[in-house]
Amino acid sequence: MAARKGGRPYVWGHSKGEEVRIALTALLATITTLSFAAVPLTKGVTVKFLDAEAGGEFLAQPDDFTRSLSPFDRSVRLKVAREVTQKEFLAYVSKHGLDWTDKEEQWMTQRVKEVRMLLNGYRLPLPKTILLIKTTGKEDAGAAYTRRNAIVFSARRLKRNGAAMRKLFLHELFHVLSRNAPKLATKMYQIIGYEPSPELIFPEELAPRKLTNPDAPFSRHAIKFEHEGDAVKAIPILYSRVTKYDEKKGGTLFQYLVFRLLVLNEDNPAGAARDAEGKLILIRPDDAKGFHEKIGRNTGYIIHPEETMADNFVYLITAKKDLPNPEIVQRLGALLRPDRD
Ligand SMILES: [Zn+2]
Repeated sequence: MAARKGGRPYVWGHSKGEEVRIALTALLATITTLSFAAVPLTKGVTVKFLDAEAGGEFLAQPDDFTRSLSPFDRSVRLKVAREVTQKEFLAYVSKHGLDWTDKEEQWMTQRVKEVRMLLNGYRLPLPKTILLIKTTGKEDAGAAYTRRNAIVFSARRLKRNGAAMRKLFLHELFHVLSRNAPKLATKMYQIIGYEPSPELIFPEELAPRKLTNPDAPFSRHAIKFEHEGDAVKAIPILYSRVTKYDEKKGGTLFQYLVFRLLVLNEDNPAGAARDAEGKLILIRPDDAKGFHEKIGRNTGYIIHPEETMADNFVYLITAKKDLPNPEIVQRLGALLRPDRD
């Protein structure tokens, strides 16, 4: 997803398009539409647009994200307090696909072509096909996000300028890349101090209200820092501040989201540590001594190493200048552009 900074909604990831000359014959229009069906991105990798029906069907297929959903995850997305079954959730999501207009498809194709130029020289283990899905946004809080090999944009997220869209596309593309190459993802997370850890068994008191980021449904990388004089290992987690969705107050999952670093049990790192009273040790990122020194200060999007590195990937590809921690971007470049230097 794209990120929240200073009160703006998170983008589980983060224009006005050129005017399209529409004075085409019906035949030409058909050919144009067909030519948008597959846009080359890198060698052997193409981008394809899905229509409303195909997009909805794709989103309704179970995957790592849907299998990770908690009861709160489902109810907040449907904006109801009651329990929502997995089947009901998938049926709901399937209804939110939208057709791309010809103009949007043409505009987005242009952005993909620009990104293709920027990616020249990088070795990126992407899936052969990357799908683009347009939705109402109501299925996931209006965020841009990814599922399997698809990037999903809400209609609202498409309304941005070309440069912003290139960045958003690159951020989301990173999620598709890391999902397709988990070993590479681990190497990329190691740049900011995260190491592989057994998949977290979410603590039982928080499990019903866990919040799941479609771009990072796993909790299997931990980071060490100092807490109250002790070296601890922790995993970033997301959960709702309340146990039930509040239908009167409403709001999207971003209004309920709490982000904490959960200290792991030293003897059993798949589980959480407990203090003397049996309580979980949940640390705010600003209270984690040494945490920011490891993950760097290039981005405020720090809810998961996947998101922090997605932003650093955007900085690498767009050659962003004057970053507080340029070494993070340099090390990422060395991984993804091994032939250079
Ligand atoms: Zn993201």
